[in-house]
Amino acid sequence: MAISIHTPIQDAGRIDKRILPALKRLGIETVRDLLFHFPSRYEDFSNEKKIADVFLGETVTLRGTVEKISVHRTFRKRMALTEAVIRDETGNIKAVWFNQPFIAKNVSEGSAVLVSGKIAKGPGGNYLQNPSYERVGARAIHTGGLVAVYPESWGITSRWLRYLISQFIGLRAHIKDSLKDSVRVRNQLPLLGDALYNIHFPKTKKDAETAERRFSFENLFFIQLRALRERGRLKQNHAPKIPLDVSLIKKFTASLPFPFTDAQRRSLWEIASDMAKPSPMNRLLEGDVGSGKTVVAAAAALLAARAGYRAVFMAPTEILARQHFATLEKFLSPFGVSLGFCTGAEKRADRADIVAGTHALIQKNISFENLGLVVVDEQHRFGVRERAHLVKNGSEEIPHFLSMSATPIPRTLALTVYGDLDLSILDEMPKYRKAVITKVIDSRGRADAYQRIREEVLKGRQVFVICPRIDLPDPNASATKRAYQQKLLLSEVKSVKEEYKKLSEGVFKDLRVSMLHGKMKAKEKALVMERFRRQESDILVSTSVVEVGIDIPNASVMMIEGAERFGLAQLHQFRGRVGRGADQSYCFLFSTEDGIAARRLRAVEEAKNGFELAQKDLEIRGPGDFFGTAQSGFSRDLLKGVSDPELVRAARREAIEILRADPALSDSPEIKKRLAEFEAVHWE
Ligand code: ADP
Ligand code: MG
Repeated sequence: MAISIHTPIQDAGRIDKRILPALKRLGIETVRDLLFHFPSRYEDFSNEKKIADVFLGETVTLRGTVEKISVHRTFRKRMALTEAVIRDETGNIKAVWFNQPFIAKNVSEGSAVLVSGKIAKGPGGNYLQNPSYERVGARAIHTGGLVAVYPESWGITSRWLRYLISQFIGLRAHIKDSLKDSVRVRNQLPLLGDALYNIHFPKTKKDAETAERRFSFENLFFIQLRALRERGRLKQNHAPKIPLDVSLIKKFTASLPFPFTDAQRRSLWEIASDMAKPSPMNRLLEGDVGSGKTVVAAAAALLAARAGYRAVFMAPTEILARQHFATLEKFLSPFGVSLGFCTGAEKRADRADIVAGTHALIQKNISFENLGLVVVDEQHRFGVRERAHLVKNGSEEIPHFLSMSATPIPRTLALTVYGDLDLSILDEMPKYRKAVITKVIDSRGRADAYQRIREEVLKGRQVFVICPRIDLPDPNASATKRAYQQKLLLSEVKSVKEEYKKLSEGVFKDLRVSMLHGKMKAKEKALVMERFRRQESDILVSTSVVEVGIDIPNASVMMIEGAERFGLAQLHQFRGRVGRGADQSYCFLFSTEDGIAARRLRAVEEAKNGFELAQKDLEIRGPGDFFGTAQSGFSRDLLKGVSDPELVRAARREAIEILRADPALSDSPEIKKRLAEFEAVHWE
């Protein structure tokens, strides 16, 4: 049988049956899948040398003859040691492999070999440690130049993968290129076949980068296509037209105890204009902590309510939902709007114009008559299906949607991950705010920081203390995601309890200390928050639950233990919990490590602006960790390439262009097919 790229991997021959299950787990089911299993990095073996010239610590490639090869077991550890002596015209050197006795069978004495690896020092002088090797003859794939290293899992080594891929790479000519020639040429991208070859077997760094750039582009291109199509689908639905009532907006802003910032004015205008259209709004209101997103959304809800529609406000936690409820009550009750509160447990929603609640509102199958607007805090995906879910059966219309995010992500990244949303940005802080004084504190500075905290409390101010999880559990060691989350929770609780004990029985035993953590019941948590809000406690020791959104203007100190365990953007979020009143506030970053960790924290000291910091955080941690997998659901793979703004823009341009010319993609069957696969895999 002829082997094609669609041949199931088990029928492709040349493959050891024992590794089939492992290949399956890597998602490799066909020859094509194998060719699209990409390396995570490259080993640079381009430093070719003569044996006499090598020095300790360098990574080299040597070409020579195997003089001797043998296996013996080490005494104590019963480990198999394979030792070979390799000679070239300048001298000889020993190569040593641990636990790979089969090498002695593959490499015979007298054969010419290439070996690549690091020079280490042993009792008998310098030697090559666990080098990659192959016989001289066929094209070298394991040594010399750049050598692909694959994400190794389930016992499949990079060596195995390189070998397998080299067996089938010739079939790449039969894979259809899903990029049109015109697109490829315009964006200076290599042919698919060349890129596939060079991603696995590059000669130079440049080869590898050019190939990577092509695949990143392709990935971004499909992300954009999907987003644009999603946007198109949404616009085909009907939404209630909510009149843009300028005099109502004026009355509302005049009723506030502060003037709107220009950014708030602009954003509200964008939102209100969207809602006045008969197709559903899909908008992200993005703004640094404290930039005043909630009032803007409240104004939008007021417009909806006055037009006879209902609005829903959803938050990720019950504490935040309660806070939204309180804020809405404060700002909107003068306008005769009725408010409800609704979570899984509690329901006071029945007839209210505006209902605050948790994200659970969606899961609980609660539906609303006359729903005009859905506002969601910190959740950005809200598709047609989810919207329809909230609406009472029989309605032709789906509500407008406004998402609020305090993660000030750079614009190109927003275009990638939220490409189907329109963006309103609050890039301006309320005027009177004083910048929070931020300090990285080492063990010597602790006493002074405690003293400052005490002074603030004596002035009547309040303090947040944030604890990291101790001993972050290894996600892979847990049987299920649930088990892992349970471990995280326990670790968090332990940390909070210890800190609480330390502070309430030690330095601050004369002050009123309270605590908040994930093991407490919703009722208890609400009570603790309420007491803190009423200033019945001075210091609140908490896990990161206060991270997003808590608004307690009287709090003036944010103290973070183990600050190096948090991301920069996250620390900035914590800091945003203080400095909300008119007084000077402080943020203390307690760090037990110095060096790189401390330098990273200095960035928070210096950056006053969340966008700047988010950019840095993104650079340091990469998009996957930046978003936190749980929150975003964006895979690392999906986000590859977003660090290149030019490429993101190019991909978006091309996606817009192709849909403009051919909205149904009927002239591009290959793209249509790939897009369908892409949507099935990547859309959470
Ligand atoms: P975030 O954007 O982080 O959600 P909030 O909406 O919680 O910010 O607003 C932070 C605080 O600033 C709230 O107490 C809010 O009432 C207040 N605020 C909002 N807009 C302004 C403004 N233009 N001037 C002064 N204070 C404002
Ligand atoms: Mg908020």
